[in-house]
Amino acid sequence: MHTAIQIKNLRFAYGAKQVLHDVSLDIPARQVTAFIGPSGCGKSTLLRCINRINDRIPSAKITDGSILVHDIDINRSDIDLQELRRQIGMVFQKYNPFAKSIYENVAFSLRVAGKNKRAELDEVVENALRGAALWDEVKDRLHTSAFGLSGGQQQRLCIARAIANQPEILLMDEPCAALDPLATLKIEELLMELKKKYTIVIVTHNMAQATRCSDKTAFMYLGNLVEYGDTMQIFEKPREKQTEAYVTGTFG
Ligand code: ADP
Ligand code: MG
Repeated sequence: MHTAIQIKNLRFAYGAKQVLHDVSLDIPARQVTAFIGPSGCGKSTLLRCINRINDRIPSAKITDGSILVHDIDINRSDIDLQELRRQIGMVFQKYNPFAKSIYENVAFSLRVAGKNKRAELDEVVENALRGAALWDEVKDRLHTSAFGLSGGQQQRLCIARAIANQPEILLMDEPCAALDPLATLKIEELLMELKKKYTIVIVTHNMAQATRCSDKTAFMYLGNLVEYGDTMQIFEKPREKQTEAYVTGTFG
């Protein structure tokens, strides 16, 4: 199986506070990998290292180790951050469409890249909205405000916006945490489609979601990667006591 992301002996700190300790894992291409673990264990921090969005936090620092994406060390000084973030899209817990129309949300990155040809934009917008399982619901209201959509639709719009960039990897930080069960189900179904084309890494505190959607699961605790393996194995035959306690809900 092809490895998309290699995390090697990663240590990370916010100022003097060490929050990731020697984390190593290989994330396979075109599968869904879930990061699970109690609040504060470092899931988001680890996810945010993969597209270097932690760079925006002045105190944030990788103190050791490396991350390779398709065999390239993303922390090399000559990495083009804009290109890295095109290649690695991100979706957040709080869906965050721009105060623009549905169409312009998806077309945004193309416009920024100086692409303004109507036919080209139309095609990208339609394909991205189809890819996010949103097209049928919005095709008659493309030029209305994104804020008129339901929460679940706004989240799928954010996914469409990421897809429009033709990424290889999608990072999702608790993408369903603000959604109701039905909207959550739609996103979970969408993940099954998306993984045919994209490598997906998802943070979730919902263990049922991890078992339903992910191929691999990484269990983290206090900044350590306690156990990583096939999702079935992690939930049904965990090797570590801490993992077992967490996945059976007898934690702490
Ligand atoms: P999780 O996503 O698993 O809840 P986080 O990665 O958000 O965990 O946080 C890991 C640790 O880093 C926590 O102790 C948290 O308080 C701390 N932390 C997160 N963001 C910052 C920040 N910007 N500055 C300082 N500490 C932070
Ligand atoms: Mg988090």
